[in-house]
Amino acid sequence: MTSELSLEQTRNIGIIAHIDAGKTTMTERILYYTGKKHKVGEVHDGQAEMDWMVQEKERGVTITAAATTVFWTVLSDQTDSKQKITKINIIDTPGHIDFTAEVQRSLRVLDGGVVVFDGVAGVEPQSETVWHQAEKFNVPLIAFVNKLDRIGANFYADLDSIHERLTKNAYPVQLPIGIEANFKGIVDLFTGRARIYLDKMGKEMKDEDVPEDLKDKVKEYRHKLIEAIVENDNNLMEKYLAGEELDIDELREGLRQAVINGKIVPVLCGSALKNKGVQLLLDAICRYLPSPLDVPPVQGENPQTQEKETRQPDGKEPFAALAFKIATDPYVGRLCYFRAYSGTLASGSYVLNTTTNNNERVGRIVRMHANHREEVKEISAGDIAAIVGIKNTSTGDTLCDPKHPIILESITFPDPVISVAIEPKTKADQEKMGIAITKLVEEDPTFKVKTNEETSQTIISGMGELHLEIIVDRLRREFSVEVNVGRPQVAYKETITSVVESEGKYIHQSGGRGQYGHCWLKLEPLERGKGFEFVDKIKGGAIPKEYVPAIKKGVIEAMGEGIVAGYPVVDMIVTVYDGSFHEVDSSEMAFKIAANRAIRDGVRNAKPILLEPIMKIEVVVPEKFIGDVIGDLNARRAQIQGTKTRGQVKLIDAVVPLAEMFGYTTVLRSMTEGRGSSNMEFSHYAPVPRNVQEEIIEGKASK
Ligand code: GDP
Repeated sequence: MTSELSLEQTRNIGIIAHIDAGKTTMTERILYYTGKKHKVGEVHDGQAEMDWMVQEKERGVTITAAATTVFWTVLSDQTDSKQKITKINIIDTPGHIDFTAEVQRSLRVLDGGVVVFDGVAGVEPQSETVWHQAEKFNVPLIAFVNKLDRIGANFYADLDSIHERLTKNAYPVQLPIGIEANFKGIVDLFTGRARIYLDKMGKEMKDEDVPEDLKDKVKEYRHKLIEAIVENDNNLMEKYLAGEELDIDELREGLRQAVINGKIVPVLCGSALKNKGVQLLLDAICRYLPSPLDVPPVQGENPQTQEKETRQPDGKEPFAALAFKIATDPYVGRLCYFRAYSGTLASGSYVLNTTTNNNERVGRIVRMHANHREEVKEISAGDIAAIVGIKNTSTGDTLCDPKHPIILESITFPDPVISVAIEPKTKADQEKMGIAITKLVEEDPTFKVKTNEETSQTIISGMGELHLEIIVDRLRREFSVEVNVGRPQVAYKETITSVVESEGKYIHQSGGRGQYGHCWLKLEPLERGKGFEFVDKIKGGAIPKEYVPAIKKGVIEAMGEGIVAGYPVVDMIVTVYDGSFHEVDSSEMAFKIAANRAIRDGVRNAKPILLEPIMKIEVVVPEKFIGDVIGDLNARRAQIQGTKTRGQVKLIDAVVPLAEMFGYTTVLRSMTEGRGSSNMEFSHYAPVPRNVQEEIIEGKASK
């Protein structure tokens, strides 16, 4: 029916949250109220429909970015003149930090986000991480303080933590009435009315006057909100200063603009579990978050002319879309989720994948709902859907009109920091494993695989222990592949600490056509995290231009193989500045080998060191365990950065080498009678202490 709503009535949003804040419950409730689901399934029953992967059901962790479409009409409160049905595409985002790549890729295709906070715990470290990512992608946000029915919930303390840790520009547009077990309703600061929920399902409600004891607070926060809105709108400011009364529609429109421009984050509240505040959140999504028309048109590069081009969010423009997720659906097979930025894509047509330069046939197009797939004939600009059966497209690829090629900016992902060797249990498993792993790699750009040449072991790498555990779990469940798993290994890197000049030669000139490659390279340390730079400073034709790319290739190859302990070399500038050649015997091959040799010798002479991934960790423990937990962290080479008190628990912030943290969750649990918890995410690479470095190198050598 309503698939063909105008762009103005489309929202592409994500619900972003720290694990356990209530994202799954919220998504569930949204599906319930928007009528796509008839029974509210509690998360702990494993009923949540977004959690369609088996182990998600078990873990309660939503780790796929499936997109779901729902429809919502803003409830009338008489003052809202715009009552239109709105199509909301919800992109599921994962809560666990190991899957931030998933969050990132969702953020890339979203126009707005709802960040759900736990009303007891406030801002948690992962909310902080994704918040800052959302800022990086300029995604306008709404904050929802959830779980206000829980013991210890405190809306105002949460608001403080949002102000302190995330943004000063968060302004409540609602206030809760009552708290904990007495949480019974919500005041809308615009209408100044109190909505009281009457039944358990939150369907029956009545609007009444604000309770007497809340009136001052309502006045105070309404004033703050209005001041913030007019501050961002000159016309409203003039009226306001002239003492004119601003009507609600005007204020809402002012807020909408401020949200879209990233100037204000409206704060809402409620309890997803107790069905309070969910419809009001849907209203706010429709009212304040941007439509595809409100965000800047997408930009890209024409691969033929290398010129920048722009595509307007218009169905009549040439088609351009970004593939943001490849998933293996148990029923229809390979699904490619895409966001259409411009033009229209019809099923049965052909698209050009400009990333791989292949034409692809678009079989069927499906729109995903919570529990069924709707086949659609076409998808237009601003919308999100999935293509069934497209073969050679991966996450981050651009799909476009073959007559109007464009490459949109691809999504960048961090390198994996941890790896583990896996080995099929039986011969039969071996065959299946290859196929399964290929599929998983396609789905997840932070999951990498390689074969160790010496031991022919398969090494899988990812963003954390849990990430790899889930992969192994999926191998077993989805692909019926049993594997033995080795000990997790840290992804170390090598780098240099001094400047050297290094000569590399590959010369063979005995009879017939010889080989002649000769170069001088200068190796210099580069700032941490900057990777690699290659500079060509050859003068006077000492080496002909055509051989320089081969030299670069040799450099990259040698750096990738590693020199001191077999880990890739990073953070280094390599300048080729001299060398010689032979009219007949020189070849690309010879220069590549010469460069490889120059790097191998050079790195060894440039005081090489190993770098290790350092993680940022926040540990939450009851006070009485804090001494033990800090003692244990110190033994793991952690640097404690501070401790804080939050309610009944202590928070410890620290940075710690990943190498020391394997199995930490289990240790922490047993150290704290099961009451401690922790969150860890990658922070940066840092030099490994001398003694540890020697152990690592010896360990490698003895294998
Ligand atoms: P997610 O990890 O963010 O998806 O969080 P879930 O939706 O799985 O919720 C985590 C736990 O919190 C579950 O046991 C939910 O039942 C519970 N929960 C979610 N929302 C609320 C709420 O508003 N109030 C209370 N008391 N519990 C909630």
